[in-house]
Amino acid sequence: MPRGQLYHPSIHDHRAPVSSYWEATAPPLGVAAAPLDGERRCEVAIVGGGYTGLSAALHLAREHGIDCAVLEAGPIGWGASGRNGGFCVLGSGKRSLGELARRYGAEEARRFHQLQRAAIALVEDLARDEGIDLEATGRGELLVAHRPARLAALRRQADETEAITGERWPLLSRAELQERHVRMEEAAGALAVPHGFGLHPLRFVRGLAAAAARHDAILHSGTDVVELRREGDGYRLRTARGSLRARRVLIATNGFYREGLTRRLDGCLLPALSSIVVTRPLSAAERAAQGWRAPLLLADTRTLLFYIRLLRDGRLLFGARGGTDAAPAAFARRIAWMRRRLAGRFPAWAGVEVDHAWWGLVCLAYDRVPHLGPLDEGRALWFAGAYHGGGVAMATALGRVAAARLAGARDPFPLPGFMDGAPPRFPLPSLRLLGLRAGYIAAQIGDACL
Ligand SMILES: Cc1cc2nc3c(=O)[nH]c(=O)nc-3n(C[C@H](O)[C@H](O)[C@H](O)COP(=O)(O)OP(=O)(O)OC[C@H]3O[C@@H](n4cnc5c(N)ncnc54)[C@H](O)[C@@H]3O)c2cc1C
Repeated sequence: MPRGQLYHPSIHDHRAPVSSYWEATAPPLGVAAAPLDGERRCEVAIVGGGYTGLSAALHLAREHGIDCAVLEAGPIGWGASGRNGGFCVLGSGKRSLGELARRYGAEEARRFHQLQRAAIALVEDLARDEGIDLEATGRGELLVAHRPARLAALRRQADETEAITGERWPLLSRAELQERHVRMEEAAGALAVPHGFGLHPLRFVRGLAAAAARHDAILHSGTDVVELRREGDGYRLRTARGSLRARRVLIATNGFYREGLTRRLDGCLLPALSSIVVTRPLSAAERAAQGWRAPLLLADTRTLLFYIRLLRDGRLLFGARGGTDAAPAAFARRIAWMRRRLAGRFPAWAGVEVDHAWWGLVCLAYDRVPHLGPLDEGRALWFAGAYHGGGVAMATALGRVAAARLAGARDPFPLPGFMDGAPPRFPLPSLRLLGLRAGYIAAQIGDACL
């Protein structure tokens, strides 16, 4: 394995699009994104062509009139942005509002909540203003208690959320959940979060890219940045076929960051696998067999959570976090495991064919919250990321905040202090994956018993 890389190299093979349901159903990019060739210059260079990088590019070009270029190793949106579950919801950290309030104060927790709500609204605004068809479905998200004890935890979460934000989220009993929404074997009840919706992630990321290009941002796909070095008052980014000189740089690689690009970020991020299967379309009778009518978004209360939604054409999208082996053989085992888990939750769909399966990397930080901040003393090199598997809305928002900071303008949204700054380094970076494995074992025990 290349030095500093935590997973099997195939997970970083960006030469081709990832075969997914989204890839099979999205319109093409529709704007030019040729590989960088020769020597170029620009004001701001952005490494990574996902929501973070493209939102930054769009806002730099549209709001601040700044000449910028996005360098993406694979096709535009190749990373998590083009292949996620499409949950545009709250939840871009691994700490509840109550935990954040105890750790950083209630005002900081409230600010985080407001930022997350603003992030969802930003996605909707961008879709409207830039004419992006998100294929939006559903409203809100159900957090499903996978054991009776977790219903009590959800009740606590509802109380803490109300105390911090003033919002009262309804708690549903098992019977209410079954009657109104879905019959899921293990569900003991659910918390109905009123925020968020489902979208087609690849449509969104390609729409963002097209909008950025229309506002004169330059896009380069197939452009892997292999070296980043300080030069004069800026940086030089070297790629296979050329190089780009920029006064400022944003690293927007999230979980697909490859160590060695910049020392300040090495050892600060922990990529983690998330996997998805999508079934063939389920008929109305098949959906009724599990009492599932509307295009709901569900996530369960496991630490290693399952996320589930019904797509527009009646297919079930079933996603799961976990696993630390990204080798191709492990992928087949993972998908077989997910099919068994799907059948366990929805027995009526046990034999239903799976048409699409894929996986990708989400990104964790040591302090379990997202981050935006400079990586150097001159504030010319920036990072935004670590969305903990919840970046659809937050990455879009932090791209916008990063654009404002790179332009020297005021923040469009106030960030809580705990997010402001580069992510801290893990105490023993070389043992990150071992730590994750141990954490997963503990989580599995906790999820099964508590
Ligand atoms: C399977 C899966 C399901 C998910 N489901 C959800 C969900 O339902 N809801 C939600 O909110 N979040 C979800 N997420 C997380 C969400 O997709 C991410 O948080 C978000 O897309 C991050 O966007 P980004 O632009 O920061 O990074 P990415 O979209 O990952 O983009 C980073 C890009 O950087 C590029 N790159 C890396 N190194 C270099 C280099 N040296 N040179 C050039 N380019 C480089 C990569 O090729 C990649 O395309 C999911 C993630 C996965 C993997």
